[in-house]
Amino acid sequence: MIDLCVIGAGPAGLMAAETAVDRGLSVLIIDAKPSFGRKFLMAGKSGLNLTKNEPFENFLRSYNDATEWLSPIIKEFDNQSAINWAQNLGQTIFTGSSNRVFPTNMKASPLLRAWLIRLSDKGVKFNQGWRWLGWENEDAVFQTSGGKKFIKSRTTVLALGGASWSRLGSDGEWANILADQDIPITPFKPSNMGFSVNWSKHMLPHFGSPIKSIRLTSGSFSSLGECVISSKGLEGSGIYAASKSMREGNPLMLDLLPDLDLRTLISRFEKLPKKASRSTIVRKVLRLDKAKTAIFNEFSQGAQLKNIITIAKALLISHLGPRPIEEAISTAGGVPRLALNNQLMLKSKPGIFCAGEMLDWEAPTGGYLITGCLATGKCAGSGASDFILL
Ligand SMILES: Cc1cc2nc3c(=O)[nH]c(=O)nc-3n(C[C@H](O)[C@H](O)[C@H](O)COP(=O)(O)OP(=O)(O)OC[C@H]3O[C@@H](n4cnc5c(N)ncnc54)[C@H](O)[C@@H]3O)c2cc1C
Repeated sequence: MIDLCVIGAGPAGLMAAETAVDRGLSVLIIDAKPSFGRKFLMAGKSGLNLTKNEPFENFLRSYNDATEWLSPIIKEFDNQSAINWAQNLGQTIFTGSSNRVFPTNMKASPLLRAWLIRLSDKGVKFNQGWRWLGWENEDAVFQTSGGKKFIKSRTTVLALGGASWSRLGSDGEWANILADQDIPITPFKPSNMGFSVNWSKHMLPHFGSPIKSIRLTSGSFSSLGECVISSKGLEGSGIYAASKSMREGNPLMLDLLPDLDLRTLISRFEKLPKKASRSTIVRKVLRLDKAKTAIFNEFSQGAQLKNIITIAKALLISHLGPRPIEEAISTAGGVPRLALNNQLMLKSKPGIFCAGEMLDWEAPTGGYLITGCLATGKCAGSGASDFILL
């Protein structure tokens, strides 16, 4: 009988597997897809942000409501550990703007390739194209091209991902399997997602344009950043950072001129003739680039001329709510803390551990997601090892 069966071969599952094989366990990793780490590879397409180079206490705070829960887990595998891990896999690392850490080549594929070779060299076995369906008489059951297969293992780590980008494997179907076993599941919600906007036809030429150097404020969230005008609405790093607060119902305001105070703008305004038109005020006082002018006009129609400056400093964005969960970078919800012990073992299923995005935590983009997945993978792999060895 195999010691540990890891189901789900993303960063969390692979880290659980390596932790256990390093403790001397026999490990089999199984994934529904014909190849491993598809979402991790996708993360590398736009530049693989591995972690954030910042003081540990600040780093921890980004895990929002889950900070207290994840604190001991991330202490065991923190942002520096994520850097060391990538370097040990032969990657050179650089710290980019806002202290975000990337592999120099920005990609995930060399990292994943090196990791899978190392795991294989350590004796980890792999089964691809096996879809987990649940358990039958304590055995894990899989749908494969050769029919149903059964795996008996002493312990299991489930690392099945969240519920977005289902074509990459993480379809969230596992939540039904666990719910059928009376395991509590927090409903999934999109996290780090864009928002739909019903654009007027004037916005068409601006689809794809970035809106740079703005301040985004929503509820208690406020940060400098940027976003992108897409045909569907607004997306990009600044929107993702504000998305939790927006999802909770707080309005989004943009300061289109965060580097200019009201006094400077008012003094520009006072130099204009009394009868200056709206377009003259926008051009000569606000001096916005094309994309900012477009978004300003879109959301300030009907405003009185005397309010133009204050509106540009606090432009209220009307939107139609989050984009569908399928498009979200990550998801909130999943297996909650109350269902798990400190080593991420399901309280009602001794020997079954959970890790990664399938746990009920969320964090902004910035490398917190991958670091959190690696850290919880390590915790679950250690838990499975202790379960067998201690
Ligand atoms: C476009 C995009 C860009 C991103 N960029 C970044 C970034 O730069 N930095 C960052 O920190 N994060 C980023 N992320 C998020 C990050 O990729 C995920 O949080 C991370 O991959 C989750 O890891 P995981 O191991 O928990 O799950 P996943 O990586 O989702 O892996 C889960 C695995 O489980 C398998 N599986 C699911 N159900 C079954 C089943 N029933 N049977 C068998 N196998 C199953 C899936 O096939 C999959 O391989 C990005 C995500 C996206 C979509």
